[in-house]
Amino acid sequence: RRDVGRITTGSKGVDELIGGGIETQAITEVFGEFGSGKSQISHELAVTVQLPKEKGGLDGECVFIDTENTFRPERVEQIADAFGLDRDEVLRKIHIARAFNSSHQILMAEKINELIQSGCNLRLVIVDSLMAHFRAEYVGRESLAVRQQKLNQHLHALQQVANTYNVAVFLTNQVQARPDAFFGSPTKAIGGHVLGHASTYRIWLKKGLAGKRIARLVDSPHLPEGEAVFKVTTDGVVD
Ligand code: ADP
Repeated sequence: RRDVGRITTGSKGVDELIGGGIETQAITEVFGEFGSGKSQISHELAVTVQLPKEKGGLDGECVFIDTENTFRPERVEQIADAFGLDRDEVLRKIHIARAFNSSHQILMAEKINELIQSGCNLRLVIVDSLMAHFRAEYVGRESLAVRQQKLNQHLHALQQVANTYNVAVFLTNQVQARPDAFFGSPTKAIGGHVLGHASTYRIWLKKGLAGKRIARLVDSPHLPEGEAVFKVTTDGVVD
């Protein structure tokens, strides 16, 4: 893979854990229970992708596919302030796509090509959260096969954007606090062969003591498993 770019998470520890920040031409999935920091990292990345390269960004723009109405412009403004960036300019470079159901979500990912062709310097696509609509709409055993097929279609479109345009894809996935969260990963379920050449990183977020958060890299093909501790503050994600 040529010209792979990296985007800082705001935490040096987490960046090191995943090899220097989240990668372009790859899908990174964060999973964890409610309140573990998935949306916070999403907001952070929507800002840091805009930083110059020497500061951990890619001078790029972002698409934020928001499925549960979790996007908060005020939160972006706080993080922009922390980096000394212009709030309005930062918000302009975050293209919000509110997905009302899973078909709409799939369609939005497929329309990203058009945005790029219109001149957007896209370097990051966030889907927060990947599974909410799919889980709500495809209930029960008999619908699992259809759900997986639709999800594959969606992931495939995201993968294609990542590979074709050198974009990073960042997915959040809410799971229970118990360790059986290791199963049922949407990216793992379809495996490397469907995902093509892109690597997939999976990060498990846990709540620690005193407001700390723990990121654990799991099932990485190239990197050692390990953990990093970070915090969420008014300024965003920090060590
Ligand atoms: P989820 O994993 O469900 O997406 P979030 O990313 O929304 O969870 O994390 C929510 C947590 O982030 C809150 O419980 C709080 O601890 C922290 N948080 C959110 N906003 C701020 C802020 N402005 N300052 C400090 N901490 C915050």
